Amino acid sequence: MDAAVTAVLERARPALGVLGLATVYRTLKRLVEDGSVRAITLPGENARYEAAESPHHDHFQCLQCRRVYDIPGCPTDLHRLAPHGFTVEKHDVTLYGKCRVCRSRRVSSPPEPRRARPRRR
Ligand SMILES: [Zn+2]
Ligand SMILES: [Zn+2]
Repeated sequence: MDAAVTAVLERARPALGVLGLATVYRTLKRLVEDGSVRAITLPGENARYEAAESPHHDHFQCLQCRRVYDIPGCPTDLHRLAPHGFTVEKHDVTLYGKCRVCRSRRVSSPPEPRRARPRRR
């Protein structure tokens, strides 16, 4: 089952009583369509969702637990990476590494991190 949807379901359950998974998918789809929720899609991952009115921020994904964290602040000189004569209008930066929780956890054989490819737009 989609982890993001499961999380929504778990969180919504106490407030809404019995809630079907189909209802959650339908509601998320509608919220994305009407622009109040933004889908974050990382390569090789199920979509995650966040409130669209949250100000722009970038993300950090832990290669061990796969959790995605919001990171404050933003690289300011990304426009310099664009080819000459191009204009940068938006970006999505995802940093990959190991989160604090996973770093403090001593694991004898950590799972092989999946190859992180930069997102193409
Ligand atoms: Zn982690
Ligand atoms: Zn940014």
